[in-house]
Amino acid sequence: MTSFRGRLWSRLEAVCRFMPVIVNTVLVVSITGEVMYLVMVEAPLEPEQKERDWAPLWKGVHLASQIFMFGNILWNASLFLRTSPSIRGVFLEGSAVGQGWRYCYACETHIPPRCSHCYDCKVCVLRKDHHCVFFGQCVGFKNYRYFLSCLLFMWAGLLYAVVLNVEVFIIILKEGITPHSVLLLLMPWIMLITGQVTARAFAFAFVADTCVVGCLCVSAFLFFHVALMLRGQTTREWYSNQRPYSLGWRRNILECLGERWYVAWLCPLIPSPFPGDGIHFLVTAPPSGVRSDNVNSGKN
Ligand SMILES: [Zn+2]
Ligand SMILES: [Zn+2]
Repeated sequence: MTSFRGRLWSRLEAVCRFMPVIVNTVLVVSITGEVMYLVMVEAPLEPEQKERDWAPLWKGVHLASQIFMFGNILWNASLFLRTSPSIRGVFLEGSAVGQGWRYCYACETHIPPRCSHCYDCKVCVLRKDHHCVFFGQCVGFKNYRYFLSCLLFMWAGLLYAVVLNVEVFIIILKEGITPHSVLLLLMPWIMLITGQVTARAFAFAFVADTCVVGCLCVSAFLFFHVALMLRGQTTREWYSNQRPYSLGWRRNILECLGERWYVAWLCPLIPSPFPGDGIHFLVTAPPSGVRSDNVNSGKN
């Protein structure tokens, strides 16, 4: 009975772990599908625009940019999930144990600086940033590039969806920006229940609202992580107000996105090897509580 409960619990745990990934995938596919519908069916937005020669080209450019963003989101997310940032398979014993190394009792091994144990992933993670609940996996040294690129294209896709949805929404109402259209955007459910709008106008307002909220949340995440990347900090170091590994903004970007950082964000297939190994880091400032004369640079 106990083993049955144990198996049931582990199955439930596995389903719950992948649930955020499934929900996010459904959201990304739904919003992309809705925006494609807007471009293919609703656009050109004005009847006279349908006569213009550039309308098919306009649609083609929009569709191509949507497919590019959608593909990048899924590809980066897939690579993020498949690239383990943990210490599994990493040879640590040969590394010189020195300043900043600690012992993890759960993994029963010495772990390098910036490495930390994740109790959700049940393993230590190299250059651990945080455990991402939306992906159900840790963000660390090896998959930080894919995490950032995925965030970037989610932000771009949502911003694009917001602009297109709000534009179409206003034209569907054929009234411009009025108190009625603003109220519909702010309180779509109340406007539908009180019979002030049609179901079609409500649907467009609801999707536009979802995109706005999603865009604001993703913007906050993206700008926070871009700031951290420029500062050479992880989320954990930001919490503890430490910045001992900053090498200047250009080198900090290179450490996160690899040697081809200037194009690596455009496509996850572009090879961009990291200059470091996720084990040894150049220390440029003493961590709090450590005297500067005790600071060394590990391998470097
Ligand atoms: Zn551990
Ligand atoms: Zn984790």
